[in-house]
Order: sequence, then structure tokens, then C-alpha cells
Amino acid sequence: NFNFKNKNAVVTGGASGIGFQITLSFLEAGGNVSVWDYSEQALQTAKDAFAKYASQIHFAQVNVGDRDSVAKAAASLPWAVDILVNNAGITRDKSFAKMGADEWDAVISTNLTGLFNVTKSLLEKFNSASNQKRIISISSVVGLYGNFGQLNYAAAKSGVIGMTKTWGKELGRKGFTANAIAPGFIATAMTKAMPKEVIDSMAAKVPVARLGEVEVIANAVLFLASEQASYINGATLSVDGGIVL
Ligand code: NAD
Repeated sequence: NFNFKNKNAVVTGGASGIGFQITLSFLEAGGNVSVWDYSEQALQTAKDAFAKYASQIHFAQVNVGDRDSVAKAAASLPWAVDILVNNAGITRDKSFAKMGADEWDAVISTNLTGLFNVTKSLLEKFNSASNQKRIISISSVVGLYGNFGQLNYAAAKSGVIGMTKTWGKELGRKGFTANAIAPGFIATAMTKAMPKEVIDSMAAKVPVARLGEVEVIANAVLFLASEQASYINGATLSVDGGIVL
């Protein structure tokens, strides 16, 4: 069990899916979290769900692809940051032949430029006294291996890995580590709404024969955020049940 008492985290896309669980896990471990999400509805649901952690949580409605919106959210933070989790992400799938500029721009704006905007806006807002500053970014197995219908997503998620390595090099001396996580198939509201045969065929491709629950990603995030992971820098941790083997 990790202890994040007196540690302050920003989780983008923290109001639903994997980000919701990352937020919950930090709160349960005693940390403070600022949830940055653009969905008003998801933010409201998260506010209700996290009511008992009211003294530990802060919310900002923000579009990570929009620099003014990100600057406002950064200015609204009640404390200095120890941990940033770049988690917000979207998909707009189409074959390359059919993919238009709209699908390309939307995914690059949120899943790649969004990380630039958010991390840049927070760089001077990290706790300067801390030697345990963390940038943890959610990539994907698609960023490692590509995927049919996901040129935009693969480009962005590979880009996240390149950014992570560069942050690891540039910021290491300043008390930061930067790491990425590459999830495989994770069960979220989206997969839970799929027909059973689709889920079964996805699970059949995974050596451990099941989809991952959101907790497996949150566990990896908390580990990388912890003091115990202080010598891991610039890594991409696959959390995928061995799907890429
Ligand atoms: P999700 O759709 O359940 O949640 C994403 C959250 O991000 C939502 O609350 C949404 O409102 C928010 N968001 C989207 N665009 C935003 C923006 N521009 N600004 C601010 N907030 C925004 O998705 P998820 O499945 O939980 O995915 C979380 C991350 O994990 C993403 O980066 C995704 O690419 C990655 N991932 C997911 C899987 C999977 O199987 N679910 C696999 C690999 C990687």
C-alpha cells in the first residue's frame, strides 16, 4: 500500500474510465488530486462519487487541447504539484484511406498537443523543494506496434513515448522522473457496452486470457509515482497481460 499523504496530483481525464480509478487510488492513499476533464457530465458524476474526499479533491473543467483553458486550470490549482498524470485521450478511428483532417487533428490535439500544453503549463507549478516530481503519461500498446484504423492514435501514442524520453533526459537533474504506461485492452464503460462475443474475442488475444481492469493501470501509476520507483526514468511500462508477446 502506497502512502501519498501531503502529495498533490493532477490527473487529466480524471473524471471517467481509467483516470477515475487513478484519482480514486490516489485519494485512498491519502493524496490530494486535481481532476482536469472537459466533460461537464463526467465531472458532475465524479464530484458526487468523490464527495467523501471533498477536502482532498479539486476539479477543473478544461480542454487539454486548448492553451487558454489549460492556463486557467493551472492558475486555479490550490497547491504546488508533485505528480502529473497525462491520461486524457480520445479515439477517432478510420482506415488511413478514409481518415480526414478532422479525425487527425482531433486526436493529435488531445492525445499529443494536450500533453505538451498541460505539462508546459505545470512545469513551474511543481513543488520546487521536492526531489520526487513525477510526470506519468498514458500511452498505449498501439503506440508501440500500430493498429489498423488508428493512424492518428498510433502517431500520438508513439509521440507520448518520445516526449517521455525527452522529459526524462531534460528534467532528470531537476528532481523529476518521466515515465509512460502502455495499456493493452482495459475494461471501461466502452468495452462493458460491447457484445460478449466481441469481448471474448479480444480476451482470446491476451496470454492471460482476460481484459485488464482499470485498477491494473492505477496500480502501475501509483508505483511509478512512489518513492520506490525513483530510479525508473524514461521507461514505457507495458500493462497488457502480455498481448504484444
Ligand atoms: P475514457 O473515454 O473512459 O476517459 C477519458 C476521459 O478523458 C474522459 O473523462 C473525457 O471526458 C476526458 N477527455 C477527453 N478529451 C479531453 C480533453 N480534450 N480535455 C480534457 N479531458 C478530456 O477513456 P479511457 O479508456 O479511460 O482512456 C484513458 C487513457 O488511457 C487514454 O489516454 C487512452 O488512450 C488510454 N488507453 C486506454 C485503453 C483502454 O483499453 N481503455 C487502452 C490503451 C490506452
